[in-house]
Order: sequence, then structure tokens, then C-alpha cells
Amino acid sequence: MDLHSAPIQLVVSDAQEKLPATLRVAQAGIPAAKKNGRKCEGDGRHVVDRLGAGCARFCAAFRAVFGGAGGYFSVDRQSAPAGRRAYGCDPEGLGFRCQRRAALCHARIRSWSVRRPRFCDAPPDDRCHHQFRFPAPGDGCVARPCRRAAAGRRMMPIVQLGAEGRWTNYHGTGTCEVATRFALRSGDAERGRDEIAIAARAVQDWLGQAQAAGRRVRPIGAGWSPSNVNIVSDSWLLHTRRFNRCFRVGGADVRPGVEAAALMLVEAGALVDEVSDKFEQQGRSLWTSGAGNGQTFAGACATGTHGSVVGRGGIQDHIRAVQLVTPTGIHWIEPAAGVMSDAFVAATGSTALRDDELFAAAQLPVGALGIVTALVVDSVPKFLVRPIQNLRKVDCAALDWLAAGDFRSFSAAYALDQDPHFVQMIVNPYKPFKRPAMLRFLYREPWRDAYPHATPGELGAGYDALSLLGRFLDEYPWARGALLQFAMKQGYAAGPDIDDPPVYGSWGEGLNTHRPLADLFNASVTIDRADLARAFELICAVYARHGGSTVVTLRFMERAQGLLAPARFPHNAVIDFDGPRSARTAEAYARVVERLDAEGIAFTRHWAKSCRLDAARVAADYGEDFRRWRTARDRLIPDPAHRALFGSAVLDGLGLTG
Ligand SMILES: Cc1cc2nc3c(=O)[nH]c(=O)nc-3n(C[C@H](O)[C@H](O)[C@H](O)COP(=O)(O)OP(=O)(O)OC[C@H]3O[C@@H](n4cnc5c(N)ncnc54)[C@H](O)[C@@H]3O)c2cc1C
Repeated sequence: MDLHSAPIQLVVSDAQEKLPATLRVAQAGIPAAKKNGRKCEGDGRHVVDRLGAGCARFCAAFRAVFGGAGGYFSVDRQSAPAGRRAYGCDPEGLGFRCQRRAALCHARIRSWSVRRPRFCDAPPDDRCHHQFRFPAPGDGCVARPCRRAAAGRRMMPIVQLGAEGRWTNYHGTGTCEVATRFALRSGDAERGRDEIAIAARAVQDWLGQAQAAGRRVRPIGAGWSPSNVNIVSDSWLLHTRRFNRCFRVGGADVRPGVEAAALMLVEAGALVDEVSDKFEQQGRSLWTSGAGNGQTFAGACATGTHGSVVGRGGIQDHIRAVQLVTPTGIHWIEPAAGVMSDAFVAATGSTALRDDELFAAAQLPVGALGIVTALVVDSVPKFLVRPIQNLRKVDCAALDWLAAGDFRSFSAAYALDQDPHFVQMIVNPYKPFKRPAMLRFLYREPWRDAYPHATPGELGAGYDALSLLGRFLDEYPWARGALLQFAMKQGYAAGPDIDDPPVYGSWGEGLNTHRPLADLFNASVTIDRADLARAFELICAVYARHGGSTVVTLRFMERAQGLLAPARFPHNAVIDFDGPRSARTAEAYARVVERLDAEGIAFTRHWAKSCRLDAARVAADYGEDFRRWRTARDRLIPDPAHRALFGSAVLDGLGLTG
């Protein structure tokens, strides 16, 4: 089968159960095709079969004129080309996005199951299973485009994407000027270790070429970080999203005492969503992640992405080993106790560095330690979560429960009398305890195969505060409190509440990828949870008084791994300010920071968010851990010229690369 003209399959369901008889599906936006003024050929319109009330499978076949089967696909029940044009762009320019009208609850784009055996039947990483990249029918929210494999077919794993130009990140918070873009692509090597060996060598050569060309480099994941840690001009960018295969780990490949079945070898560009799916197919699960799942795994770890699982740390805690490429080395970094066998590490073409300090630095590198090509990711047996989501007025005194970690009492008061796995509260900073807050709880239950499947929407996906607001808040300062409350009510999926029939999902099913938001403001402070009762009201009051125009989200987590993990207190409360960007909101956040300093309340800030950090502040916030991180960096990249290769205005300013 010619992969470039592979048919795609779309399963579309509609919350209102009003599916159209036909559906127009169009491929649009392939840069090369656009440039040449030609459209891709093909259009899909017919229903293959109905899968039950409100759900049908459609078939669409395309033959791309240029550029393969990638590009943007839109599913549009009204066939409005203008609507399609209005959709945002994929930052990589190659992505495969599922777009839909509001009426469509969700649409899934999958490759045909034809000739793609289920992952579960694939052998472990000692024989060929390149089909692993494709999701099995019935799984996954985002599938990868069919494309020619790179490495194993003697094609370059790294290809240049067009001519030098500009690149803008996902939320449009930063632009790289004069950037030459490259993509690192997965191959079809027999074994995962062989594939990452080929890729790492190619990356090392590429670094040498960039240096010879006098260009700085920047690996790009999904490009989600609004702090612009993914931005550098006059540079070579390496897009990693096409480098996304995952491989099971065999028992002979690990050191004695390590549970191989819990581990997966993940190429750096695999999305959190994809890693979640692959684990689920093995009966395993990630134990935490951020609110969305469209980040790459390496990119999410690079900034310490987290959610609100009360007993866990950040996503980087899943890492057991990292393959990191610098101009002078291909390093396999693990804790001193070791994880993978010597033979496995040698087969990856890497030099083993079993060292706790280097590992703790590499777990959260902020893109400053080299290029991560692969990770060994840990998991737990898969489990179900039951969400409860409601709007409740929260008593100010309840903060004492939260500060003390008594999540059970908080849950009993506002949802179920059970220990919650996850607790999140989104408040209107204008009178946070007089207006209803948006509460979300997840209760963990043992896995069972027979549970009624719910859509991500029914499970409350997209609950992050970023999804809620519009620019109009900034334009009506007198009504900000009421407008925020209105937006909270409209934007929050009310229910399932405690009286509604319970719905269940796996960890991955409750997450969703995200649509880009223009002009995003996105900042946070992480405080010691013990300070919550005295800090939270103060934060809301200062933020509201100075005109902050976003909701305020409260999340919880334990101390996270990695020397530069912002969640560095034994128990952490993370307070997020997410919404439309405006000078007033940024100013209000700055006043919050000033006030916390004045009150002597210790806090850190998120590496990915717009938090106005500088090198002096980073050094003060992280103290001895920052010094240890820099020592580890200098051991990994001893030559200052090589460190500068990974520099950028933002990273130099943070003292990470300068
Ligand atoms: C809609 C949205 C929701 C979010 N929700 C949350 C949340 O719930 N919790 C939370 O904590 N954060 C959240 N974030 C922040 C997000 O998780 C981080 O920005 C994350 O780093 C993005 O991952 P990415 O793949 O897009 O990385 P990018 O933004 O592309 O890159 C981030 C950094 O990692 C580096 N990097 C990327 N890939 C590699 C690699 N292979 N090797 C070395 N360095 C690399 C980049 O150079 C850059 O310095 C959210 C962001 C958005 C936009």
C-alpha cells in the first residue's frame, strides 16, 4: 500500500445525537501544496457504517499532490470552507489535527486497521514491530499521519522543512526570526534501540553542522510553552513530533530487580496522548500528567509539567532513563543504581552515565542540556477514574483542610466521602468565597474492562482554565467579576455531579489535546501547601485589585523529581493564572509576586509560563539545587561554546545557558 495515498478513517460522534447523513472531510493546508497553488486531491463523504446512536464511521481517501498525507484535516458537517480556513495552524507545519465544529462532540482520525496488527500482539523490543506507531482501532484521540519511514529505509532521519523563515509557537507568544527548520523523523528499524542509535547519531551530526554554520539550535516539542523557552532567532530548529515511536522493554534488557513490564522506550517527540495510549494497550497507565495531553513527552518533562494528583509529583517523575545528545557525546543517563542492561545501552549507541546528580538534572533540563532523543518511561497498572465536577460556594475555612492535606474532608464536604486521587478548584478572584468555584475531583477505582465508555467531554476533559475566557474581559473592567463568573459557568462542563449517573474513564481518556489560543496569558506560583490558608485569599485580593482578568486555579502535588522542579516543597499548592493576555493582567500578576515577597512567602514559578524570571531570581529560588544543576550541566557540556549552542535570549536570561 502506498502510504502517501492511504485512506483514513474517521469515527465521529455527536453529543446531541444528530449526526448528518454525510460529512464533508477535507484536507487543507499542506504548505507545499499551498505554495504551488494546488489542492490535495480527494474528498470523503460517505458513511461506512453507523456504530450506534450518535456515532458513525466515515471513510475518506486522499491522494496528496505534494508533501505526503500530512496536513490539516477538518471535519465539517456544514461544509464551510471559510470555517476551515479560520482554524489555527499547527506550529510544526506538518501536524495532523482533528478539527471540528462545536456541534461535534469529538472526532477521531485513525489509520485503517488493515494490515496493522494490534500492538498487544507485537513482540517486545527484540523483533520488528514498526506497526506499533499506529494506534489500534478503538484507541487514541490523535493518530499519526501515514508517512514514509525514515531511518531504516536509508532516508535521512533529519530533513529540512522549507527555506529559512519565521516560526511562531503554538499560542503565538513568541516568534523565531531567521529560523531554518528541520524535522527529526521516526524510522522503521527492527528494534527500538537500533532506531534511537541511528537518530542520535544523526542529531549529533546535525549539531556539528549547526555549529559550523554559526547557528544556535533549539529542539521543539509541540511548541506549547508560552514562556518562550522554545524560541530562539538566527537558529536551527529541530521539530521532534515526527519522532514518536514507542517500544516495549524486554526482561533481558533491564538490570536485575527492575520491572521491565512497567517500562516503555519512548522517542522524544511522542505526545503525552500517544504514550498514554500505548501504555493502556499494555494494561498500564501514566500516574499523572498536565491538564492537556498534546505536549511531547520530552517537552512536558523539560518544564516540569504537572496536574493535580494529590499524592504525586510532576510528569518527569515517570522518567527512568534519558538518551541525551550533545555535540561531543550521546549519553544514556540513569540513576546510579542503574535501570537498563549494559548490552541495551551499548546497542543505543550511547555511553552509560549512571549518576544521580546527572539524572536529577536531566529529568528537568528546560531544553538547556542538549537534545533528548529518547526516554525510558515508567507506569502503574491501569486504573479507572470517576470524575465529579460541580460549581459550589466553598467556605474559606475549607482552605485549612487543603493546607493540611485533608483532601478527604474537602471531598466529603463538596463531592464524595472518599479519598480523591485528584482535586482542583478554579475560583473567580473577585470574591472567591462568595461566588461558586468550579471543583473537579477524580476518584480512582480498580480497572475493569466492562465500563461504560464516555467521551473526553463527558469526562470533563479540557477543564483547564485556559479554555474559558475571551478578550472581552479586559474591555469591561467594571464588570470583570460578573463576566468571569459568567464565563466560568458557560465554559465549565457542569457535571457529572454526585447525583448524576457515574461515568468512568482511564487516565488518558480524561485528557484532551488543545486548540491554540491567541494572546494567551499564563502564569503561576507554586507555594508550600502549608502556606495556603494565609496566601490564597491574599493572592486573589491583590490580583483582583490590580485588574487581573483571568480565573485563578488551585492545584496540588507532592514534591516533584528533578533539581529544577518548581514543585520543590514537600507538599505543594500550585496557583495558576490562565486567560487572555493583557498588560493589566500581567501587571496584576507582578503585584502578586511582589506581595508574596513582601509577606515572606516562599514560592517558585513554572518554566513554561510567562512568569518574568531572571537569573538572579532563579539562583535565589533554587539555591543549592541550581548550583548542582549547573555543575551537572558543565559535566555534560564542558565546552562553553557548546553550551552557547543551546542558548537563547530567554534561557541565557534565566542563567541556564549563559
Ligand atoms: C493548553 C496548555 C495547557 C497546559 N497545561 C499545563 C498543565 O496542566 N500543567 C503544566 O504544568 N503545564 C501546562 N502547560 C505547559 C506545558 O505543559 C509546557 O509548556 C510543556 O513544556 C510543553 O511541551 P512541548 O512539547 O510543547 O514543549 P515545547 O514548548 O516545544 O518545549 C519546551 C522546552 O523543552 C525543550 N524541548 C522540547 N523537546 C525537547 C527535546 N527533545 N530535547 C530537549 N529539549 C526539548 C524546548 O527546547 C523548550 O525549551 C500547558 C500549556 C498549554 C499551552
